[in-house]
Amino acid sequence: MAQQETEKQHAGVLPVDDEGFVIDTEDCEAREAAYRERGTSRPITVVGNPVLHKECKDVTEFGPELEKLVDDMFASQRTAEGVGLAANQIGVDLKVFVYDCPDDEGVRHTGVVCNPVLQELPADRRRLDDSNEGCLSVPTAYAELARPDYAVVTGRDEKGNEITVRGTGYFARCLQHETDHLYGYLYIDRLSKRERKNALKQMEEGTPRYATVPNE
Ligand SMILES: [Zn+2]
Repeated sequence: MAQQETEKQHAGVLPVDDEGFVIDTEDCEAREAAYRERGTSRPITVVGNPVLHKECKDVTEFGPELEKLVDDMFASQRTAEGVGLAANQIGVDLKVFVYDCPDDEGVRHTGVVCNPVLQELPADRRRLDDSNEGCLSVPTAYAELARPDYAVVTGRDEKGNEITVRGTGYFARCLQHETDHLYGYLYIDRLSKRERKNALKQMEEGTPRYATVPNE
């Protein structure tokens, strides 16, 4: 199918569809494994670590160092059994997140976004979904949090190409959650005081199944 292959734009790491969104649903298994196998799993920072509570720096250099970081992020994400991971969750102050997450139809999406910016949604796409949310940086805790069930994020891939990613359902939640991380916000910052307290209590009582970075 060489014809179809040339019709897709291959300027970026991933092909792009007719509407300009990256196609991040193809070869997920192989792509995720390739990143992860090159990378080294690192321990996860947890709530209270300063790197999680401030805006990260923009990525300005798209080279081997960034690629190594992305590999390590995929390795760490797999070890911690996450569906998304932001760079500050392994202690790196840079606007990068990776994801490996199913959407509302159970379709798997795998990719990398640097310098993400969440786009305003048209009014007709702003439907809230109040599913459960959790975070590797708030281990063992979960809380219901209402978020739009559709999200569009613009940014760059790990080679510096401009990309637009869109997601539905759980993947929409993931895109919003990971972008929040890179601006210094955890999902518990969006909860009521009481729900936040409850999430922190769940965390205190639980034991993470992966290595974490102890807070000072
Ligand atoms: Zn998180």
